[in-house]
Amino acid sequence: MPLRSALFSQRSLVLTLIALLGAGFLATSLLSYYASRASIRDSIVNTELPLTSDTVYSEIQKDLVRPILISSMMSRDTFLRDWVVAGERDPGQMTRYLNEVMTHYGAYTAFFVSNNSLTYYQAKGVLKKVSLSEPRDIWYFRVRDMAPPYEINVDVDMANQDSLTFFINYKVYDYQDNFIGAAGVGLTVDAVIKLIDTYQQRYQRSVYFVDTEGRIVLTGADGGPQGARVGTALSELDSMRDLLAKLPKPHSGSYEYTTQGQGHFLNVRFIPELNWYLFVDKREGSALHEVRQSLYLNLLICLIVTLSVLALLHRVITRFQGRIEAQATLDSLTGLPNRRGFDLLAAQALQEAQREPKPLTALLLDLDHFKRLNDSHGHLAGDLVLAGFARDLESCLRQSDIVCRWGGEEFIVLLKDTDASTGLKIAEKIRQMIEHKHYRYEGKSLQVTLSIGLTTLQADDTLHNLLSRADQAMYRAKQHGRNRTCTQMPHSSYA
Ligand code: GH3
Ligand code: MG
Ligand code: MG
Repeated sequence: MPLRSALFSQRSLVLTLIALLGAGFLATSLLSYYASRASIRDSIVNTELPLTSDTVYSEIQKDLVRPILISSMMSRDTFLRDWVVAGERDPGQMTRYLNEVMTHYGAYTAFFVSNNSLTYYQAKGVLKKVSLSEPRDIWYFRVRDMAPPYEINVDVDMANQDSLTFFINYKVYDYQDNFIGAAGVGLTVDAVIKLIDTYQQRYQRSVYFVDTEGRIVLTGADGGPQGARVGTALSELDSMRDLLAKLPKPHSGSYEYTTQGQGHFLNVRFIPELNWYLFVDKREGSALHEVRQSLYLNLLICLIVTLSVLALLHRVITRFQGRIEAQATLDSLTGLPNRRGFDLLAAQALQEAQREPKPLTALLLDLDHFKRLNDSHGHLAGDLVLAGFARDLESCLRQSDIVCRWGGEEFIVLLKDTDASTGLKIAEKIRQMIEHKHYRYEGKSLQVTLSIGLTTLQADDTLHNLLSRADQAMYRAKQHGRNRTCTQMPHSSYA
């Protein structure tokens, strides 16, 4: 196979292997990546987020719903209602009652506002009178006029250095269902925010509450989505645009949305006690970080394996190619170059000699009556003589000379930088050396002689011309009795 097409087929083999290995590795890596991603997404949407929401809900029931229950109890308390109906005579009794509720249930504050006297009672005593004209008291009149039995309100607590407080304002009725005031307890918002922060840290997802109108009502210390503060409507947030297209109004369920190219999983749950929606949100990126890492690692390993396989393959191919090329140009019996090897070497030698120019002598050597030797001593004996002759022939030549087994018992020698007379001396030296040589085979001594045809390279010679002149010279040597050297020049000839 010509060198170029061998190289081409090696390159196409390597490229095919890269394509096959690469495609195979890529396909398995991507398949396993997508399979794990799908199972992680599935477990987030169907298990993790609902579980978090359940846990948060149960914590809320414990931490937030409790104050509602306490407030509800206060609104039904017979002492409180009797005391109001009886005309709010001893404020100390009410104060003690409120103090008892506060300390016993661990509330931050406990209060009662009488509708009759508009007096604001709290655990530490009578605080003030509420007034419609006072913006801070507007909550009371809102509670008085609202239909639901209670509301949850985040407001400043006048009784406690105006700290932000989470109030449960319960309506209180007398035994004839007349509205007689509002009672309840409060938690500082700080405590609730801490609670949410704990959830967020513990479960690595963001937790916030939204009212039925889609307004954020409670968040952790860092705010809601995009750090949004309480009171912000989700519709005001750019990052929620994709979500709002799927969820225009809060509604329980599981959702997926994207913001700034980042996927989010969201679980929304309605909390009837608060009349709020609990939003538990998890970023896809953080959840899939590990799978993505393992995909990159997978791909890196695949790349290393592919490159190692290719490097190994390249080495093996080059080594074998070298060996095959060498074998293809050498004769196995004598170890001399064969015709193919000779063609490459001779072409180069002729070019050099003609370019310089320098003389070059060609010898064609043929063993005499070799058939006879084979016939009388066997083919193996012939082989032994051929191999021995090749060794001896080489020993008579310089490193730079070119020698080849032309076929059968014929050999060619190109003597570089050698004119006809020197060439003749060398040919005769070879002939005489072989004539006296004994080759030992199975105890027998075998002898051969040589007929040599000699010619020299001319300026316009081709290899073919050169060799056919040498052949003619050798033929003449045979005709003139063998065991001799004959010379053939282009236009003259002599023995
Ligand atoms: P001539 O002097 O005219 O050259 O006579 P010859 O017998 O040498 O010539 P011929 O061409 O008739 O025979 C060549 C012989 O060389 C015949 C063939 O069997 C033998 N021969 C060719 N290659 C090998 C080989 O590799 N090993 C052996 N043992 N013999 C070979
Ligand atoms: Mg022959
Ligand atoms: Mg012969």
